[in-house]
Amino acid sequence: MTLLDTSSTPFFATADGRDLATDATFDVINPSTGQVFAQAPAVTPEQLDGVFAAANRAYRDWKRDDALRRTVLLAAAAAVEGAVGELAPILVAEQGKPLADARGEIFAAGAWLRYFAELDVPREIIRDDAERFEEVYRRPLGVVAAITPWNFPITLAMWKIAPALRAGNTIVVKPSPYTPLTTLALARVLRGVLPDGVLNVVTGPDPLGAALVAHPIPRKVSFTGSTPVGKRVAVTAAEDLKRVTLELGGNDPAIILRDADVEAVAASLFWSAFGNNGQICLAVKRVYAHEDVQPALVEALGELARNARVDDGMAEGAQLGPLNNKPQFERIKGLVSDAVGGGARVVSGGHAIDRPGYFYAPTILDNVDDSFRVVKEEQFGPVLPVMAFRDEEEAIERANNSEYGLTASVWSADAARAAEIASEIDSGQVSINGHGGGVKMHLPFGGHKWSGLGVENGPWGLASFTEIQVISGPSRLP
Ligand code: NAP
Repeated sequence: MTLLDTSSTPFFATADGRDLATDATFDVINPSTGQVFAQAPAVTPEQLDGVFAAANRAYRDWKRDDALRRTVLLAAAAAVEGAVGELAPILVAEQGKPLADARGEIFAAGAWLRYFAELDVPREIIRDDAERFEEVYRRPLGVVAAITPWNFPITLAMWKIAPALRAGNTIVVKPSPYTPLTTLALARVLRGVLPDGVLNVVTGPDPLGAALVAHPIPRKVSFTGSTPVGKRVAVTAAEDLKRVTLELGGNDPAIILRDADVEAVAASLFWSAFGNNGQICLAVKRVYAHEDVQPALVEALGELARNARVDDGMAEGAQLGPLNNKPQFERIKGLVSDAVGGGARVVSGGHAIDRPGYFYAPTILDNVDDSFRVVKEEQFGPVLPVMAFRDEEEAIERANNSEYGLTASVWSADAARAAEIASEIDSGQVSINGHGGGVKMHLPFGGHKWSGLGVENGPWGLASFTEIQVISGPSRLP
C-alpha cells in the first residue's frame, strides 16, 4: 500500500526559484498499481525561453564566486538529506523501487553534493617567472541542459547537478515523464538554498527533451538515456557545437571462470543483475560461465530468483518492486516469450505476477545462446540468460561481441588472472569478483562504443562541465 498523499502536494516546475505556472498537466502512474496517482506540470517548449533566460541571468553571479559555490552545495547536501522522509516515498510511488533503495538514492544525492563541494576546480600555473606567466583555467560553460531517465531519477540528475554547479554553470533539468515528481520535489527543497535560477526543473512529455537540446541558450547537454535517443541528441547538439556527455545503454557481460566458487559468487551475481529489477544501465545482462560451473550456477541463481521478495516498494521486506512502466513490462514479456519460443529453459520465473501493476517474476534462462534477442539486446529488466563457454578466449570474444561497452565483470578465485582478462574487455569499467564496484563518486563512469561519450563523476566528470582557458602574458612579478 502506498502511503503517499499526493492530493495535498501538487507538483510545480521550478524556474528562477519559483513555481512555473503551466496550462496543462500529465498523468503519473504508480507502477505498483498501474493507476494514475498524481499530475505533473506539462511545461511547453515555448516556455523554455523564460526558463533558460532565468538560468542565464543566474549564471552571471554564480560563475564568479568559487567559495560561495562550495558553501551553498554543502548546504544543499544537508537540505536534501533532511528531506529524505519527503522525497523517498515520492520516488517509490513513481518509480516502484523499495523504500530502502529510494532512501539510499536520496542520501547518495547528498553525498554527491558534498563530494563535489569539496573538489577543487583545477587551475594550473604552467609558468610564472621574471619573463612571463602562463596559466590554464577551467571555466564553466554557461547553462547546462540535463536530461535523465526513469530508473534512477535522483542519482542520475545529481551526477549532473553537483559537478555542473560546482564548476560554475547553472542548469535546467528535465526528468523522464515516467518519473517527474521526485526531481520536481528536489528542486522545491533546494529553493532558497541555491540562488534563484541556478537549478531549474521542467517536466513535460515529448518533445520537451528535444526542445531543450535544440534551444540556443544551453552550451552543454548532459544526457542519460537510451542509445537511439542519445544519438539523436548528439546530432542536434552538433548543429550548435554544444558540448555533450552521453551516458547510454549497456549489455553488460559477467564472465565466470572455471575456478569460481559458485556458492560464493551466486548471491552477489544475482543482485548485480536484479537490483532495481534489472533496470540499471550497468546491471549484469548476460552471464558467460565456464561449462564446468554453468549448471550449478544456473540452479543457484534460480533458487535466489525464486526466493527474492517482489512486492510494492512500500511493503515491509520488499526486495524488488514492479517494472517502472507498461512499455518496459511488455518488452520483458516479449523477450522472454521470444527466448522460450527459441528453446530456452525457464529455470525460474518466466511470467508476469498475477496482481495489478507491472510485476514480473525474476527470471533465469538456460539453454540460450548469443543469437537470442534477450542476449543481443539490452533487456533492462528482471531476466538473465546464463550461458556456458569452453575456453577463456571464447568468453572474451563473446563478451566483446556487442555494440555496447558500458561495464563488465570477471569472477575467479585467481584475482590476478581475472584482472588480465578484464584488460581484454572493451568497456568503460570492469570489476573483479563483483559488478559495478567502480561506480563511485571519485571514479570516472562512462561507456565505450554505443554506451556513451565522455564520463561522469570524479575530477573527470567535473572537467566535462568546463572549458579550458589559457591566460598568459608578461611577468606579473614585482
Ligand atoms: P530514453 O527513452 O532515451 O529517455 C531518456 C530521456 O530522454 C527521457 O527524459 C526522455 O523524455 C528524453 N528524450 C526522449 N527523446 C528525446 C529527444 N529526441 N531529445 C532529447 N531528449 C529526449 O531512456 P529511458 O527509457 O528513460 O531510460 C532507459 C535507458 O537509459 C536504458 O537504455 C539505459 O541503459 C539507459 N541508462 C544509461 C545510464 C548510463 O549512465 N549509461 C544510466 C541509466 C540509464 P521523453 O520520454 O519525454 O521522451
